[in-house]
Amino acid sequence: MFDRIAEHEQVLFCNDAATGLKAIIAIHNTTLGPALGGCRMRPYETVDDAIEDVLRLSKGMTYKCAAADVDFGGGKAVIIGDPLTDRTPELFRAFGQFVESLNGRFYTGTDMGTTPDNFVHSLRETNCIVGVPEEYGGSGDSSIPTAKGVLYGIQATNKMVFGNEEFGGKTYAIQGLGKVGYKVAEMLLEEGAEIIVTDINRHAIDRLIQRAIELKGEVKVVSGDEIYEADADVFVPCALGGIINDRTIDKLKVSAVVGSANNQLLTIEHGDRLHNRGILYAPDYIVNSGGLIQVSDELYSPHPMRVLQKTKAIYDTLHTVFKNAEESSISTVQAANYFCEERIESRKRRNSFFSHKKPGKWAVRS
Ligand code: NAD
Repeated sequence: MFDRIAEHEQVLFCNDAATGLKAIIAIHNTTLGPALGGCRMRPYETVDDAIEDVLRLSKGMTYKCAAADVDFGGGKAVIIGDPLTDRTPELFRAFGQFVESLNGRFYTGTDMGTTPDNFVHSLRETNCIVGVPEEYGGSGDSSIPTAKGVLYGIQATNKMVFGNEEFGGKTYAIQGLGKVGYKVAEMLLEEGAEIIVTDINRHAIDRLIQRAIELKGEVKVVSGDEIYEADADVFVPCALGGIINDRTIDKLKVSAVVGSANNQLLTIEHGDRLHNRGILYAPDYIVNSGGLIQVSDELYSPHPMRVLQKTKAIYDTLHTVFKNAEESSISTVQAANYFCEERIESRKRRNSFFSHKKPGKWAVRS
């Protein structure tokens, strides 16, 4: 087990017989600050699967926090259970007690299989919870800053590929019209862009068509896999992970990929293959960090303008990563990873006159 968690600082197995809680909290790296990462609930087939997931996701959070330049490190929690039947208030209170036992080393909130309401129960045991409903001090719908971040990402990508930031005069192929994808599509229509969309949910498509009629915009709807071969300039994945894979990569006709979906590349090698094909890939964990920026900012009391300001930095970060990739002839994913690792290393080199527990870096919510 120690070999397996060699890159991680701490892994906590949480067992509470009374509530049936079986959770694992992984803290990957706290160089930049206390670990931050959502809590996922899934009926994992084996404990081994749960360990694999939490180790992978917590490491991803270290990079995401570093790229977003928030004073947090990487962590994640998984609860082994069925979201349909096991999400009791008592279970989330017990989970909150375990989070509290880490004494500020780990902050968490909703992820796949859990909702903000679940963590209202955890909040009774610990203040180390983010993304709760607004009436509990939360900052509201995080898909709003996420979508804004995607738009800044598109601007930075357009600038690099087409020499101008403008949304209009280009065609975007959008996969997924959910909380993030719909907002991105709507904004692109408002800016006079042409869009090609797909979603497995007919209602989501009808809603966008209705909006396009109001905006007098153009929407073309395609089904399923047709989105990969759409005649578009930019592919905007806002649904599933792993969609850049052996099956899809050669179908792409676009010049760039930039969207909100997590883990768009099936493997890091697919980033190299996009690079070799001359398709600019905007690393997902930079592009989709608006939601993270909002929840981390929440701990200093919610302020939408400040969140927007910080979200704008996604443009500059991407620009730096694109330039670094170009200069070193490496893929943008590799350049993004080096950029984050350097940020963490430089934090280690910086002198620290106070103990790790500094005011300003920790929750001020009482
Ligand atoms: P969502 O569940 O609201 O929307 C996803 C949409 O994709 C739904 O409309 C769904 O019907 C559609 N979809 C699912 N499978 C599809 C398929 N095979 N083809 C086409 N459409 C499909 O999710 P969301 O909050 O909009 O998030 C979208 C993506 O962005 C996810 O990968 C999510 O992890 C990531 N993300 C979201 C946030 C956020 O703040 N919401 C933050 C970071 C990353």
